[in-house]
Amino acid sequence: MPLLDRSPLMGSRQTICDWCIFNDFEKKDVLSHLERIVEPMNTSRIVSKERINSCMTADEAWAQCATSLCIAIPELSDEIARVSTDAPRCLAPNKAKHPMPFTYDLGHRKLPFVSLHYQGCVADLLTMAHEFGHAVQIVASWKSGKGQMPPVAREWCAFISELAILQFNELSSASICSAYNADDNTYFGAHKSSLEAALLDGQRQYQYAWNYPLARYFSQTLFQRCKSTQLSKIYAAGANGGRMLNKLAAEYFGGHPLPFPTKRQNSDSVLMKNYFPEIPTEKSDLPAIEAYRTLGMMTYLDLDYLLGHSEMSISKYYNRLLHHLQTQTAYVVIGDENKPIGYATWNESDQNPEHVEFTRQAAPFGDHLRLQRSLKRRLPHAKTASSKNERSARQAQIAW
Ligand SMILES: [Zn+2]
Repeated sequence: MPLLDRSPLMGSRQTICDWCIFNDFEKKDVLSHLERIVEPMNTSRIVSKERINSCMTADEAWAQCATSLCIAIPELSDEIARVSTDAPRCLAPNKAKHPMPFTYDLGHRKLPFVSLHYQGCVADLLTMAHEFGHAVQIVASWKSGKGQMPPVAREWCAFISELAILQFNELSSASICSAYNADDNTYFGAHKSSLEAALLDGQRQYQYAWNYPLARYFSQTLFQRCKSTQLSKIYAAGANGGRMLNKLAAEYFGGHPLPFPTKRQNSDSVLMKNYFPEIPTEKSDLPAIEAYRTLGMMTYLDLDYLLGHSEMSISKYYNRLLHHLQTQTAYVVIGDENKPIGYATWNESDQNPEHVEFTRQAAPFGDHLRLQRSLKRRLPHAKTASSKNERSARQAQIAW
């Protein structure tokens, strides 16, 4: 677990009050956010020793961290490129000397130093993405001249980078998602308890672990919901990072955590409960009713899965879906509970009938893999598929 990030501005003599001030948080806001974090169940770290499918080398993994963060937040591509090519790093340090991963801010506009043990396990890739996120945040903040970032915001940046690697590996590695979920156990378990105890007993001495629960929670509530420009601004916010993060979190307060694209099993899905009503099992004789029902399900799913579509004007939104309904290029996937879990729309190409381009894939409860599998069955003629990156018009991703 990535623990040892340097935080020279908060010392162990300080208390929870100093921590709140330093991170620009009101104590009452911290409490109300913490109340919304549900401790995950049924997770274990055993999976984290699983090796990455393709046995990536450390350098390949480092490059993947750069690519995935660039896809998630293209606005940071310059900073990501700098870190990717030039940041000093040791990916196989002396374990006795440096048992924990860390990113060290060398100051004076120097690139940060990253140290971690990469041995090809899925957990190592997550750790690398975490430290990579720290390094990018340090570079983006000194570039903007806004100084050093307080620790909760710094950890948030690192967790966003972890979500970017999950997003990138969505289709190839469920084990990465499992390793990620296993980490939630620590952040929302022991670390959350430690923060709660400090909030109750104002005299406790500062522990770095206090910074993780809110940072993790905010990364999960904001990663999918915010535009990449909003995410990039926090990386560059420096000393204002806490205030900006708190403001953004307040804007989205009440949103369910969406650790995209993790596929949580039912037993582990307290955070991702599908609260939609069941759909009637009987089919209507009237096609118009079926069409309305399909339209309603897609609208429902979009309301819970922001990324711009629920903010469209009604006429634009309706016209878009109507076109897909008329051309039969929309598909809603119904889950085991007889509730809609996701939907997709796509364009087919006359030039290449074996290729489809997804214009929308929404799975607000984390059922991305299931959506993907259902689409493959629904579109047997599609040998290849790509999807428009909804965060940036510049990016297209291979879907299969
Ligand atoms: Zn960290």
